[in-house]
Amino acid sequence: MDFDLRTLNAMSGLLNVAMGLVLFGMRRSLRQPVGGMGWWGLAPLLCLGATVLYGLDGHLPAGALVLGANGLLLAGAVSFYFGSLDYYGQRLPWARQLLLGVAMLAALACFLWLWPDYRLRVAIFTSTLASAIFAHAHLLWQRGRGFAARFTLSVLLVQGLVLVVRAVGAFWVDGAATPRFAASPLQTVYLATFSFSLTLVCIGVLLMASEQLRSRFEQLATRDTLTGVLSRHAIFQEGAYAWARWQQEGTPFSLLLLDLDHFKRINDTWGHPMGDQVLRDVARRCAAQLRGADRLGRYGGEELLALLPGADAGSALATAKRLHQAAGLPSRADHPGCSVSLGVATVQAGDADLQDLLARADRQLYRAKHQGRDQVCAA
Ligand code: GH3
Ligand code: MG
Ligand code: MG
Repeated sequence: MDFDLRTLNAMSGLLNVAMGLVLFGMRRSLRQPVGGMGWWGLAPLLCLGATVLYGLDGHLPAGALVLGANGLLLAGAVSFYFGSLDYYGQRLPWARQLLLGVAMLAALACFLWLWPDYRLRVAIFTSTLASAIFAHAHLLWQRGRGFAARFTLSVLLVQGLVLVVRAVGAFWVDGAATPRFAASPLQTVYLATFSFSLTLVCIGVLLMASEQLRSRFEQLATRDTLTGVLSRHAIFQEGAYAWARWQQEGTPFSLLLLDLDHFKRINDTWGHPMGDQVLRDVARRCAAQLRGADRLGRYGGEELLALLPGADAGSALATAKRLHQAAGLPSRADHPGCSVSLGVATVQAGDADLQDLLARADRQLYRAKHQGRDQVCAA
């Protein structure tokens, strides 16, 4: 392999600038930025600072180069790490990282001026950098879900491993007085992998940011903003899936239509904000009564619709009774309670579509209201 290290260094620097600008630009374009994007944008720019200093080798005093460039690279790795901590809403361990940085710079200064030794400087720098990178990887291992976090984690692990190999390798291939930018094969592989992986980490965190944006949009599109249960559109979508399974496989399902009794009175007596609170509480307690496969959505104003896949008439009625019991309790002594009425319907052979089933549940709800409210009626 015959890379020109300076060219490689310059190219990776340019890529890092582009990545940093993309991250900052994305952050600026969001009204509600994703946590960590500022740190993530700063990180490649810090690494660029290191690249520029390395590029000035020969024109700068050795101290400025060794301490400045290595300090900036460590700051870049820590900045990536802080970005991910911020992304997951965790506290930033400022004191620990500052101490690590100062200790590294002090050790580098010792082996630059007091007992000059290139091998020890390489080992100290690469192992400190690896410790910051492994801390970052550990965070993603613990908190990361989904492809983006796993991708970033894999790149960090490779990066950390390369650093460890470089640290250990320093004692085999380098001499105490090896010049910087001496193109030993180990140094070449190390620099090439490290520069390339910096770009991959940037891509990984960009993917993490876009994953969070996607989940925000999904949340907005499928959730009712007041109660947090599924929106009307989303619960009907679930209904369509259940209907398709009934048509294809004969798997039954049931619907529960729930309406809060005399809810208008709560608004009139306690005010609309309390009405909203009661609605949220009822939705939360109903959701707590459902099984994993069941779905709860907001059908209309103060009407909820539960979809019970696989439930026949008997188990649907049992679930409806549980919901009826749980919904009516006030969640706080100083809050009004509100009873509910439920209509239950289970899919049957003559149904032409989901609307037939819904109409039956609605008729049962009407019957429950007509018979005095606060009860369950099943077809
Ligand atoms: P019943 O169902 O027992 O016949 O009586 P009701 O008072 O609940 O009657 P109805 O269903 O006609 O009235 C529903 C009321 O719910 C009307 C509306 O002011 C109120 N409502 C609908 N959506 C919301 C909401 O999001 N928040 C609040 N606070 N009130 C709502
Ligand atoms: Mg009502
Ligand atoms: Mg109503």
